[in-house]
Amino acid sequence: MVGTFDGGCACAAVRYRLMSEPMFVHCCHCRDCQRQTGSAFVLNALIETDRISVLSGHPDAVAVPTDSGHPHDIHRCPDCRIALWSDYGRRPKLRFVRVGTLDDPAAFAPDVHIFTRSKLPWVRLPDGVPAFEEYYDSKSLWPAQSLERRRAILA
Ligand SMILES: [Zn+2]
Ligand SMILES: [Zn+2]
Repeated sequence: MVGTFDGGCACAAVRYRLMSEPMFVHCCHCRDCQRQTGSAFVLNALIETDRISVLSGHPDAVAVPTDSGHPHDIHRCPDCRIALWSDYGRRPKLRFVRVGTLDDPAAFAPDVHIFTRSKLPWVRLPDGVPAFEEYYDSKSLWPAQSLERRRAILA
């Protein structure tokens, strides 16, 4: 699969382009994500930072408290404050892009549902997509090519 995927914030000060498909897509039902989005879950596309081309604007990083205590910086448009992507664990080469900020938010469907222990009761998970009460073992779930991409940036 090849192609690029454009997105941006609400006021259009920040526009970005994903230069490839992501490595993997999380649908996270944890309490942190529910609070941060004001919704039932978040959709995060995991991709290398250098595959995000920022076409305009300068997102700033806002550190947020987490239940786990691990660092989490949310990168937001400086004007409208929409969240574009996250840096979990201060790993500068890895970004978690908010799928809902893509011009075509249907471009990527979740590859896994995580932290379903706090999933809202009315959310029905689809058959055939792996789901976990907490986190999961990416080595057993990610395609080999994605694992290779991750190794290249986190080595
Ligand atoms: Zn904006
Ligand atoms: Zn979460």
